Amino acid sequence: MASRTDDSPPPADAPERVAPSHFGGPVGTFALTFLVPAITFYLWACVALADGSLWLPGSVGELLQMFPAPTLKATLIFGAWLGLQVVLGLVAPGKVVTGAPLPHGGGRLEYKLNGLSAFLVSMALLVAGLAAGVISAREILAELGPLLTISTVAAALLAGWFYVWGRRRGDLERSSGNVPYDFFMGTVLNPRFGLFDLKFFFESHIGMGTWGALAILMPAAELEQTGSISLAMGVVTLCQMIYILDFFVFESNLLSMLDIIYENYGFMLTHAFLVWMPFNFTLQQQYLLASPHELPAWAAALLVALNLAGYVVFRDSNLQKQRFRRDPSRNVWGKPPKVLKTKRGTSLLVSGWWGLARHTNYLGDLMMAYAWCLACGFGSIVPYFYVLYFTPLLINRERRDHALCHDKYGDDWDEYCRRVPYRIVPFLY
Ligand code: NDP
Repeated sequence: MASRTDDSPPPADAPERVAPSHFGGPVGTFALTFLVPAITFYLWACVALADGSLWLPGSVGELLQMFPAPTLKATLIFGAWLGLQVVLGLVAPGKVVTGAPLPHGGGRLEYKLNGLSAFLVSMALLVAGLAAGVISAREILAELGPLLTISTVAAALLAGWFYVWGRRRGDLERSSGNVPYDFFMGTVLNPRFGLFDLKFFFESHIGMGTWGALAILMPAAELEQTGSISLAMGVVTLCQMIYILDFFVFESNLLSMLDIIYENYGFMLTHAFLVWMPFNFTLQQQYLLASPHELPAWAAALLVALNLAGYVVFRDSNLQKQRFRRDPSRNVWGKPPKVLKTKRGTSLLVSGWWGLARHTNYLGDLMMAYAWCLACGFGSIVPYFYVLYFTPLLINRERRDHALCHDKYGDDWDEYCRRVPYRIVPFLY
């Protein structure tokens, strides 16, 4: 089996230079390098400085408050967590698997899938530390602002390191030669030390793992603060932990996603994993800590039901496609699958979830996202940030995938769209 290591030369047919055309090119990516962190700092400020309402600074001095200075304590917390994750990433048990084929004949890489064991050990240590009183959730969360600053700086430094890594290695994996563009989009596809793949590690262990740790710390802080955990906080924590655990149980799915196979590792992804996921995905819990909300029991039951229904659609539709790719004759919902054979060689599934709409997996993801946000009530728009950005993101992703599939499958894709006319929501959209 062809495999690539860090020292191996770039694939023979790797493109020499690409046009800097994504996200508005050099100007757009330069602007995003500042805008994306600014959004995260602003959302933090809404919670920390305005109890979860939209925050409107009255002067430049006030505006600067949204950038909290790093503290020694936050630096130690950040270093200890990162160190623990690196050690677990190296030693925690996990299967070694071969990833999907890389573009441009780049072969296949091997990955050690130990995210689940590392996550369970981390959570056990965290919960034990909280229960024993060695760790105070409130003290850690008091450092959330400084931690945000430190994580943002770390994301920028990491992106700088990867930029140099790609340039020095002479790795021409879709770099454009334009510095701000390449800094944002990245110049290296899979920076790694042996089996320790940095992109995979930061997305899984750091991005999802830190989200999980914060998702535990928030209700723990509420417990320390008030002596109980509110129903709204309980609902959000339960629903998010299902999502995070599911990610680790099905960690191998990440190997076939675009982030790993196709996207270079630049600031867009270093910031996504170190900052965007842990800080913005916990916004509902941050909001509930700052601005407690009474959720009626009937509403809690409905939201848990919406989340579970979304989870079933999300997980079952993704599994259905994976199983179909492995064995196209396997029954779907107890019946032989309806299949559209394409001229390209592969087939498309036209029954089960994939016969109801072309991306019901996105629908399931959105149902869960709405459940988390609605648990925060209607007092502020801030905890709704997740659905406000995620809904257009998935609508756009469906359109991009539609265009890609049209390129791949030609008129066979038109036929699939004729037989399955809905994009994401059966009978509606
Ligand atoms: P999908 O898993 O939907 O994969 C799309 C690909 O599946 C197509 O390109 C095509 O590739 C194949 N395909 C499409 N239709 C069919 C069919 N009828 N039969 C068989 N194969 C088909 O894409 P994503 O990676 O975007 O999403 C995966 C999951 O990740 C989703 O549940 C999504 O919600 C989630 N996600 C979450 C994000 C987050 O931030 N939380 C962000 C992005 C995604 P081919 O034919 O070449 O196999």
